[in-house]
Amino acid sequence: MTQAMPRKRKLPLKERYALLTRDLDWQPSYVGKEQLYPYTSYEGIKVHDWDGWSDPFRLTVDAYYKYQAEKDKRLYAVLDSFAQSQGHLALSDASYLNAIKLFIQGVTPLEYAAHRHFAYLARYLEGPAPRFAALCQSVDELRHAQTQIHTISNYNKYYGGFHSWSKMHDRVWYLSVPKSLFDDAMSAGPFEFLISISFSFEYLLTNLLFVPFMSGASFNGDMPTMSFGFSAQSDESRHMTLGLEAIKFLLEQDEANVPIIQGWIDKWFWRAYRMSALVAGMMDYMLPKPVMSWKEAFELYFEDQMLGGLFPDLDFYGIKPPRHVGDAIAEKDHLSHQVYKILHNFSFAAAFTTSTPTEEHSRWLASQYPDTYQQLYQPVWDRHRRIEAAGGRVFFQGLPQLCQVCQIPMAFTETDDPARISFRRSDYRGETFHTCSNGCQWVFEREPEKYVQAWLPVHQIYQGHCGGPTVPDVLAWYGIQDGDNGEYQGSPDARSWADWHASNPSPAPER
Ligand code: FE
Ligand code: ZN
Repeated sequence: MTQAMPRKRKLPLKERYALLTRDLDWQPSYVGKEQLYPYTSYEGIKVHDWDGWSDPFRLTVDAYYKYQAEKDKRLYAVLDSFAQSQGHLALSDASYLNAIKLFIQGVTPLEYAAHRHFAYLARYLEGPAPRFAALCQSVDELRHAQTQIHTISNYNKYYGGFHSWSKMHDRVWYLSVPKSLFDDAMSAGPFEFLISISFSFEYLLTNLLFVPFMSGASFNGDMPTMSFGFSAQSDESRHMTLGLEAIKFLLEQDEANVPIIQGWIDKWFWRAYRMSALVAGMMDYMLPKPVMSWKEAFELYFEDQMLGGLFPDLDFYGIKPPRHVGDAIAEKDHLSHQVYKILHNFSFAAAFTTSTPTEEHSRWLASQYPDTYQQLYQPVWDRHRRIEAAGGRVFFQGLPQLCQVCQIPMAFTETDDPARISFRRSDYRGETFHTCSNGCQWVFEREPEKYVQAWLPVHQIYQGHCGGPTVPDVLAWYGIQDGDNGEYQGSPDARSWADWHASNPSPAPER
């Protein structure tokens, strides 16, 4: 008879987590705290007790890898069957993929940047619990970058615009909008990064930035994108919790932290909101089957959930809603139309295509924007349609002036006068700098020494740093190939799409 071995008692999760995050930490003996953590004092944030940080998820390493592996298995099964069954033919239309081109060029590189910076926080934050939370998020973000690249690469075989996204992210004009935002966050201190990315980006605006892409995918037959969306969702809720935990922890540690954090919220709300203009244009104009309008999403995800739900709670700590939130609300009837006009005018230099909204789409826009669309924007599209019916297509030849902060061409209008371009001017060290809004001007004047260094794509072209003086020179330097850019109607993507569907009238089965 063999004797049963006494079973090892498994510790409750709470204790295991405490052992992992607290008891594995040690006090340095031969270097000082300031040498070990040199970056946590210069921003002026005071932390008295790092043990006050509680991570409500209590995720351990073994559990983490088990969950993530299961999610990966499911995702890659979807990708395999999609590739084998020519699933791309079941999309609503090839023009839908313009939204996904924007995603891989603009968003996926930010996932990778987040991976890098959370790895830095995992080394340099003083508390063991937030260090471990940052480590998990760093691994998540790497996985997001990888799953997005694998998912979207399925389309690279058949469609333009997907081949050089990483180079484009570093070079192409509209991609410097997201890139410069993240560079701004990564070159800030560790606490500002937490408020910028974990709180303002992941908590305040994540639903507004990601849900439109994922519901756009589900409405337009893009199973793979929907699947990576689902597989990132549980990570995303952890990241949102980290953002909320970070801000509450810092606010509770010392009253002197409150005004510093308020300044960061004011800055980062506006930075992230301005970047979301690209998402607004995508939602209202790039989806053949639109999900909901930008305005509706902004009201639901931001005005109701954040202004109505979150900020009343933060008021307890003395935190007020972001400084320029009124301007964002005042713009909600205009933002998407103004930004898509820019993209439409300049898509000859973009790695996606654009087209004038059809009459049916125009009716949808009119129903979503009863106060502005028919009066202000529809006449412009009607004119484009007339010009195109006569064989023309308007592209704006010439380079636009960019905002020194958000880097979007100056095409936004005054919140109280849609006929006047909003244009702000600041002087710094004898030079003049231009910004697009009260928000961007405020951000500039708060840290001019940072923003005077901005890599503005238009200035760089004029200074001769972008491949040469002509449009073909610049496009070659961008990595844009024939068929990536310009008008969608008649493009290689549109022609292949028509051919595939003509030769195969019932392609992949409907889901
Ligand atoms: Fe992510
Ligand atoms: Zn701006």
